[in-house]
Amino acid sequence: IEEEYRAKHPTSQARYERALRDFPSGVTHDVRYQKPFPLYVERASGAHKWDVDGNELIDYTMGHGALLLGHAHPQIVEAVQVQIRRGTHYGAGHDLELEWAERIRELKPSCERVKFTASGTEATLLAMRLARAYTGREKILKFAGHFHGWQDYALPGEKPPFDAQPIPGVPRAVLESVVVAPVNDLDFVERRLAEGDIAAVILEPSGASWASIPLPEGFLHRLRAITERTGTLLIFDEVITGFRWSPGGVQGLLGIRPDLTTMAKIVAGGLPGGAVGGRADIMALLEFRDDPEWNRRRVAHPGTFNANPLSAAAGCACLQLVADPAVQRHADAMAARLRRGMNHVLVTHGIPGFVWGESSVFHIALGHTCTNQRGEDIRMPEGVSPIVLKTGMSPALATTLYQAMVNEGVDLFHGGGLLSVAHTPEDIDRTIEAF
Ligand code: PMP
Repeated sequence: IEEEYRAKHPTSQARYERALRDFPSGVTHDVRYQKPFPLYVERASGAHKWDVDGNELIDYTMGHGALLLGHAHPQIVEAVQVQIRRGTHYGAGHDLELEWAERIRELKPSCERVKFTASGTEATLLAMRLARAYTGREKILKFAGHFHGWQDYALPGEKPPFDAQPIPGVPRAVLESVVVAPVNDLDFVERRLAEGDIAAVILEPSGASWASIPLPEGFLHRLRAITERTGTLLIFDEVITGFRWSPGGVQGLLGIRPDLTTMAKIVAGGLPGGAVGGRADIMALLEFRDDPEWNRRRVAHPGTFNANPLSAAAGCACLQLVADPAVQRHADAMAARLRRGMNHVLVTHGIPGFVWGESSVFHIALGHTCTNQRGEDIRMPEGVSPIVLKTGMSPALATTLYQAMVNEGVDLFHGGGLLSVAHTPEDIDRTIEAF
């Protein structure tokens, strides 16, 4: 398999050799590291992309989840082209930032006020800081396995075996300020919150890593009740789910109102950008007032590219389109067809493994079995450990599967992938055939 991969991608290999002189391990994002070398891509359109050797791929990386509308969506391209001629940074307010915030507030009524950031990582950093300032408490509680970007407070407990420390480069004081709750353990959360020193609970409302470790039924409602009772803020990290799980994200789907929401990816239409939205009284900590004492202690939030006109243009165009639930319905249906088809393949061939997910995402586990694998779609695999759900398969198997799928014209992401409105039934059936 690796030989075929090398034979099909000589130009990518040459680029990688150059990249090794430019970047540590030749990559610009940790998850893009791939053996024996990653692919170099030249262009992308809809659900497809073309590598520098001219191979066409059905794409399931989809901008790490940013491209719910597919690559180079004509309306987003048009919006960005119009804006770029008018300037990319005014160092001032502009109409698109107003429209952008208003579209967010309309889709997510819990976002009474909004602040823009340049990434999801910055959004979770700001939300945590706001929560600490609002409650006067120092600690943040997060869940084992949940990903909130690469800032210091987001790292503890993210990777198996989900222990909190030590983490290279992260001060001990930071680690001590983050409490990592065991996977889906609300009794732990309830006990820990009763101590009264937790500013906020942050989580991916899909469950860890976009539903790879799914949440049990009723989990978010109970968490909302526990946080409310203890005066702890609830932060939904909807960077992935924000406009994918429904036009209003998970909160829109389940009718739950978090205190703060973090967004990125789809919110900026595939350009860099993020946002924090939430309760007006919490966001008020970012206000300037005619009171020097207040201003000295207000929550700081600069950022050169906050609400920059290009990201705002793409974000407005994108949010207008994803407000139509037909977008999510199509992507969801394609993902369900894919999960079902892949599970059917595994059962038919007697291969231990299962494919699961919800909304428009999927995860693949190989070398493990779950008790509810019946060749159908699975949301919640039963009888498997959270570590298996988070990792999916051994690194060696993951590499082989990745290379083999690329050889067949399919680019997986992280042992799974994210779909878009541009994926067609033909794409799905070709992918199942490749699998
Ligand atoms: N939170 C979640 C749930 C994410 O999936 C990500 C990115 N994958 C982030 C935060 C960080 O966003 P960014 O990469 O834009 O910093």
